[in-house]
Amino acid sequence: MSEKVERIKCLIIGSGPAGYTAAIYAARADMKPVIYTGLEPGGQLTTTTEVDNFPGYPEGIDGPSMMVQLQQQAERFGTEVRIGMITSIELSKEVGGIHKAVVDSVTPIEAESVIISTGATAKYLGLPSEQRLRGGGVSACAVCDGFFFKGQEVAIVGGGDTAAEEATYLANICKKVTLLVRKGEMRASKAMQHRVNNTSNLVVKYFTEIEEVLGEQVVEGLRLVNNQTGEKEQIEVTGLFIAIGHKPNTDIFKGQLDMDETGYIITQGKSTKTNKPGVFASGDVQDKEYRQAITAAGTGCMAALDAERYLAAVESKEEVEA
Ligand code: NDP
Repeated sequence: MSEKVERIKCLIIGSGPAGYTAAIYAARADMKPVIYTGLEPGGQLTTTTEVDNFPGYPEGIDGPSMMVQLQQQAERFGTEVRIGMITSIELSKEVGGIHKAVVDSVTPIEAESVIISTGATAKYLGLPSEQRLRGGGVSACAVCDGFFFKGQEVAIVGGGDTAAEEATYLANICKKVTLLVRKGEMRASKAMQHRVNNTSNLVVKYFTEIEEVLGEQVVEGLRLVNNQTGEKEQIEVTGLFIAIGHKPNTDIFKGQLDMDETGYIITQGKSTKTNKPGVFASGDVQDKEYRQAITAAGTGCMAALDAERYLAAVESKEEVEA
């Protein structure tokens, strides 16, 4: 005899600030949320050292501690936190339909509503020296970590809008910023390039790639190579920011949810609603512009409220029909 498949009222996928905030709100609304943490419990913040810009922490807090606190807050109201991956999912097209998911490629579960907060993963160059010095001066978020390099010389790599925006942001804080672009031109909008070119302490090096990040415990410099001439040079910096794009973690939803060309989930208007009834998206998985813990938390709250309204509407429809 086959075992009965567990049915969850509110399934939350992903355990960053968006997922945990959704869980806090959903649990307090008695939606009995179950959150699957994914491979990186706590999300991107667990790879950050200090978080100084999340309101309510006047002394700052380190990323992993903050995520533990968010988890405890969600659990306090009855959220069930489970270590595991949702490896596949079949989303219902019907209002009131049941969504069918599989945990760790083995266990089937069902959900009346789904909140997707699987986040996005920052891309890195893939150099061993870069990986070794992550958290030791290599960062993928200038807004998060730029402040720690106040008055210092830093470099940033990338040629898109993020790199241009973060380079000018860093130039306001740091003594000197070197922007490293691998082609002979930037992909960023003309307006952003104009800002870059008009910032006096910001130097752009085109056709330039990083061969090695120098330093044992912390970043001390970079060995650069001009990919046209092969010429090498060394520059002294204490920080290296990587701004070469993000990959939203949406592979399991492909073909089922509306997404943009990069794979970010498209939500409707100001809401967190996706194109499937009862399925909501919050945090970086649907936001390529702001990408902050606090904005992710805000949309997590919105997703729980949207899910609550959806479930209430489904229940009252069922009562009327009964
Ligand atoms: P993009 O994908 O637009 O740009 C990535 C950049 O990184 C490209 O210049 C690319 O170079 C470079 N790059 C990729 N891999 C490497 C590598 N291995 N070594 C060196 N350079 C590399 O990502 P963004 O994060 O900049 O932007 C994502 C989206 O968000 C875009 O649509 C952007 O317009 C939008 N955005 C908008 C903002 C705004 O409007 N305020 C702010 C931030 C982002 P190459 O050009 O050679 O391929």
